[in-house]
Amino acid sequence: MITIKNNKEIELMREACRVVALVYEELEKKIKPGMSTWELDQIAEKKMRSLGAIPAEKGYDIGIKGVPPFPASICVSINDEVIHGIPSKHKFIKEGDIVSVDTVALKNGYNGDAARTFVVGKISKEAQRLIDVTKQAFFEGLKYAKVGNRIGDISHAIGTYVESQGFSVVREFQGHGIGKDMHEDPGIPNYGKAGRGPRIEAGMTLAIEPMVIQGKPDILELSDGWTIVTEDGSLAAHYENTVLITKNGPEILTMTKEEKSKIK
Ligand code: MG
Repeated sequence: MITIKNNKEIELMREACRVVALVYEELEKKIKPGMSTWELDQIAEKKMRSLGAIPAEKGYDIGIKGVPPFPASICVSINDEVIHGIPSKHKFIKEGDIVSVDTVALKNGYNGDAARTFVVGKISKEAQRLIDVTKQAFFEGLKYAKVGNRIGDISHAIGTYVESQGFSVVREFQGHGIGKDMHEDPGIPNYGKAGRGPRIEAGMTLAIEPMVIQGKPDILELSDGWTIVTEDGSLAAHYENTVLITKNGPEILTMTKEEKSKIK
């Protein structure tokens, strides 16, 4: 069921999303080579809790037999890991890595969700282009996140842009509505046909999240039941924001003013 948020709920969504924006502001400052992914997780969890929020990913259960609930506060996926990497005290961030972080904060019963791929030290031009294209893919989709359009318009814009740049979108995972639940309807694939899918309405809150692979689109799941990697070992990037649909257009809720001011 697609939920339309009223003004009170929109204010609560804003608050949860603001927490996520502030987590990224903090991680951007603190991420560095030599740090374990667990340390990064601790920084994020501390920040969320200091702002009165709970890390919603912690204990998240996908309900598949044999897959334990997610054990950490954020997902940290390095290089060829696409999404859902589990933070670990034994896993270290190295110079030249690209590090995708996905954070969901739950505050006063509402969720905010965003992802960023951080650059650690010096990376190749092609890796930087992957990150830039992934971010731009979100904005290409956002252009269509307007009242009266359909979800497929967003999907189509993201998929065609990514493929025009020579990269692949992940097909097995997708964006989603968000609110009281981390994952609500509608699903928002990163590919598809324009003019299809549910009609976009004011009061929807949508997590739009291109997941982009440098090489082939195929993915594998590791035996931990969570971590998704590229099959061909090529790099992957992730960029996500929670967006409010208003009658005057989309509003990104999971960005600080400073981050918004850097958008071209
Ligand atoms: Mg997310």
